[in-house]
Amino acid sequence: MTSPATARNLPWYLRHEERATVDLTSHRELVVPDSVLAPTLEFLQERGQLGHEGFVVWGGKVVDEDTLHFTSCYVPQQTAHKTANGLLVVVDGVALFRMNRAFYERGEIAAGQVHTHPTDAYHSSTDDHFPLVTLCGALSLVVPDFARHGRASMDRWAWYRLREHGTWDLAADIGSRIHIEPEGS
Ligand SMILES: [Zn+2]
Repeated sequence: MTSPATARNLPWYLRHEERATVDLTSHRELVVPDSVLAPTLEFLQERGQLGHEGFVVWGGKVVDEDTLHFTSCYVPQQTAHKTANGLLVVVDGVALFRMNRAFYERGEIAAGQVHTHPTDAYHSSTDDHFPLVTLCGALSLVVPDFARHGRASMDRWAWYRLREHGTWDLAADIGSRIHIEPEGS
């Protein structure tokens, strides 16, 4: 039997039961500071200029029972592919491991993901079933036009939240409020 003291000393990847209890569904207020959004758009634009989709993951911290603050932008090592069905970004298991360890060491949770599409923003079937964030209530943002318009295309950005494995809701439909803080914040 494992005592609580022993459990606390386990490395993060053996503490999955504790991690699995995090559920973000009830957090309706989502705060996105410029310190997270600006590097996100910068990376996505760089990838887009090469004709690649890009993928980043946002670390977050729960502030209270309603509010989740995004606190960092993490770029996982990724490989872009062109397939018969379109573009695809692959993040392998080692890169995911590094990402989760980095969030854990910073006291953050992998609370959101952002990726680009060449044209319109929506969640494809692949997006539904192969996310990089897996917590219930996690955010997924899709940015159109390889993010080349930056914030100017914000009215066409598509925001989703994970209901359960494979099923995402449009964030607005379930009462989520996204607070994008101004540039420089
Ligand atoms: Zn997609």
